[in-house]
Amino acid sequence: MTRSTVYLDNGATTQTDPRVAEAMARYLVEFYGNPSSSHALGAASKSAVDTARRVIADSVGANPNKVYFTSGGTEADTLGIRGAVPDRPGNVVMTNIEHPAVLNQRDYLESRGHEVRIVDVGADGVVAASDVLAATDRDTHVVAVMAANNEIGTLQPVAEIGRALRDGGGRARLFVDGVQAYTKFPFDLESMGIDLLAISAHKIHGPPGVGALIQGSRGRVLPQLAGGGQEAGVRPGTENVPGIVGFGVAVSVALDNEVRDGKTMAGLRDRLIAEALRLDPAAQVNGHRTERLCNNASIAFSNMRGSTLLGLLEEEGVYASAGSACHAGNTKQSAVLSAIGVPESTGTIRFTLSRYTTEEEVERACVSLGLALARARTFLGGA
Ligand code: PLP
Repeated sequence: MTRSTVYLDNGATTQTDPRVAEAMARYLVEFYGNPSSSHALGAASKSAVDTARRVIADSVGANPNKVYFTSGGTEADTLGIRGAVPDRPGNVVMTNIEHPAVLNQRDYLESRGHEVRIVDVGADGVVAASDVLAATDRDTHVVAVMAANNEIGTLQPVAEIGRALRDGGGRARLFVDGVQAYTKFPFDLESMGIDLLAISAHKIHGPPGVGALIQGSRGRVLPQLAGGGQEAGVRPGTENVPGIVGFGVAVSVALDNEVRDGKTMAGLRDRLIAEALRLDPAAQVNGHRTERLCNNASIAFSNMRGSTLLGLLEEEGVYASAGSACHAGNTKQSAVLSAIGVPESTGTIRFTLSRYTTEEEVERACVSLGLALARARTFLGGA
């Protein structure tokens, strides 16, 4: 990326931290053994994978033996849901703004004889714990509630739901997609009543193509692939050692300054929101104003097409996104924005920051936004 661009699309992916890249390179060219091999090169890889496993387990108060590395967040979501659902017919409860990696499990679950119950979030993008609990019964296998939404950044009351499910003494397990929230929001599986947590490295300055499913103290996860006995047999396949090593380093670095970085990002996010609302007083912040990720500013601009504004911002050197990455090139209102009732006549831009985002960059983005909005309204007539 050239120096003059401002990258505000960290919800889609983040720049790999140089310390991560450096650690990974060693496990590509120097310590390239297969962790299952009995010789010293294999043992070095196994030890590196176990170190990353410990770092990740400690970060959420889990047992290292219950961390299963996957090819990313999508696979961790799939394994976490499918792997927790037994053959016995029952139901699975999920919110209507889950990531497609969760929502799109519906066909599979129904084809296996399970009912899928969708719970709507409120207009503020937050689900009421009471609505989720009301949808569960003694036949509920899994309750899936994401910790933070990828498009609008809203935080969900996962701990309240988890604790209530445990207090209720039922068998339903709480699955949490923590892909956007991990390292920006503190997780402790046991005290929050989380049974399964999915995370992904590339959202936290780690490499793409590696993630993990972390299991709490209850229940089992049934493998969804047939193969060797890697990852305790739960996720067979030769481990992505460089990716896993990089993931471990990314987590250590992120946790080192979690609180300070979170406060800095929240301050910059609020500066961006304030300027957007000053430039377009009819604009709205999508989702809850405070119960949101420290790095997410999702804004619906009035009488505007998101793709138009996004293109003009890019011409100014500012990279953001019109919805989530999955919706790129799609001009239809995203399902999440529809779910919270954002009018079709507005154009949403999702600005997502990272710990690398500087004050200077946000100031530049604010100036660019002013220019882009003026151009959109003057020359293009907005839509
Ligand atoms: N869940 C959420 C909330 C996400 O934001 C994403 C990625 O955007 C995923 C799951 C999928 O993760 P991955 O890209 O690692 O497959």
